Amino acid sequence: MKIINPATEELVGEVAVDSTEAIKFKYENIRAGQAAWAAKPLQERLDIIVKFGEIVDQHVDRLAALLTAEMGKPVWQAAGEIKGAKNRVKFLVDLAEKTLAEDFVTPEGATKEKIVYEPLGVIGNISAWNYPYNVGYNVYLPALVAGNAVLYKPSEYTALTGIEMAKMLWEAGVPEDVFQVVIGGKEAGQTMLDLPLDGYFFTGSYRTGKHIAQTVAHKLVPVGLELGGKDPLYVAEDVADVANVAAAAAEGVFYNTGQSCCAVERIYVNEKVYDQFITSFVEETKKLKSGSPMEEGVWIGPLTRPEQIDVIQQQVDDAVSKGGKLLLGGKKMEGKGYYYEPTVVVDVTNDMPIMQEESFGPVIGIMKVSGDEEAVKLMNDTEYGLTAAVYTQSKERAEKMMAKLNAGTVYWNCCDRVSPYTPWSGRKNSGMGSTLSHIGIRAFVQPKAYHLRG
Ligand code: NAD
Repeated sequence: MKIINPATEELVGEVAVDSTEAIKFKYENIRAGQAAWAAKPLQERLDIIVKFGEIVDQHVDRLAALLTAEMGKPVWQAAGEIKGAKNRVKFLVDLAEKTLAEDFVTPEGATKEKIVYEPLGVIGNISAWNYPYNVGYNVYLPALVAGNAVLYKPSEYTALTGIEMAKMLWEAGVPEDVFQVVIGGKEAGQTMLDLPLDGYFFTGSYRTGKHIAQTVAHKLVPVGLELGGKDPLYVAEDVADVANVAAAAAEGVFYNTGQSCCAVERIYVNEKVYDQFITSFVEETKKLKSGSPMEEGVWIGPLTRPEQIDVIQQQVDDAVSKGGKLLLGGKKMEGKGYYYEPTVVVDVTNDMPIMQEESFGPVIGIMKVSGDEEAVKLMNDTEYGLTAAVYTQSKERAEKMMAKLNAGTVYWNCCDRVSPYTPWSGRKNSGMGSTLSHIGIRAFVQPKAYHLRG
């Protein structure tokens, strides 16, 4: 498999794709090793994961350069992701013991009762490329801490990063017969679906997630799906500083070149501040420099997958053909690399693909609304339900809206943000189940009820 640098279209490296036999061999290897891993005291497993975090920390610059070469995110954002992902280790140190401890629900009486949390066994983690550290950590770290063995398939777009992760886990003390990495694309993922795994945890598109859930449904094992989004942001007329909100919104739209599951993908602005917001938003967007992701000060890098350029172009062309107005951008950039211009489209309607389908690129549609009620209605008018943001000075007003928003995460005066202490869960086509928080640790265990007499 060739790994191509999306900024230069040059070869970064070549890796051997795992054959079906090789994947089966890896599976059997970790199936054999899982029981011994689960038998270790929790603290020992946690110490290994803490050590892993320290090893990652020692290699940030090298790992960031590799990640940028593979998938094109500006290198300072790559370093930010790698350093920031450390909070996943800290959250496990803070919560794992409490969450996984046995629970004596009936400590007195003739029949005592307790709940014990046992690992699922061998789980599969099929992952995405856009934040490979964060989305990998969200699954395999709690799974390992809980005593599972993990067959991890990084995306084919970040395979080299996936191999580095495995090496660092092994170096930290996770046995090779407990964590194995599968290299390949769709076919390798499909082979994992055919194996008798005890759980499937997927991060990626709705289309693939649905296919995975349908394919493994007959096995009746846990399936976790973290899928795409079409995340809305609303600006009320009472915001203290429209320019500040526009700057925050632009960051939410364009960070990671728009390739975040929780990127702001739609903006609704109260008509009373609409013109002011648009002026500031366009100004802010113009400040974001496009260029080589290895260059300092660059905000917008290339898209990771060249095919996404056509998806975005179709959304933009469709919007413009139906009356949408292009204020910025609107086409692929000339020259080498999969670059698309930062693009702002106004006068759109909510039924257009640009306001309904995940863009996953540096593109935004903005609509004027009459007030909170219309905003909530339009924000909920989507097949996705990952996050939704409300900007207003009034907490009461924000909370009233947030209660009505059908999304797994709601934000007041912030956006495009993940905390390991709260559940990360999509509604509707954005997913099933939850990672992170104590709920995301419990996702990797099965309860056993003990009834104890005597
Ligand atoms: P994708 O669905 O194309 O691929 C994801 C993974 O599935 C890859 O490893 C791929 O090789 C594998 N795969 C593809 N076909 C398969 C099959 N038939 N069987 C088994 N495995 C298969 O998604 P992507 O392009 O890697 O990621 C982008 C998507 O991920 C976006 O929609 C984004 O919003 C979403 N995402 C969601 C979250 C979240 O936490 N909700 C986080 C990051 C990304």
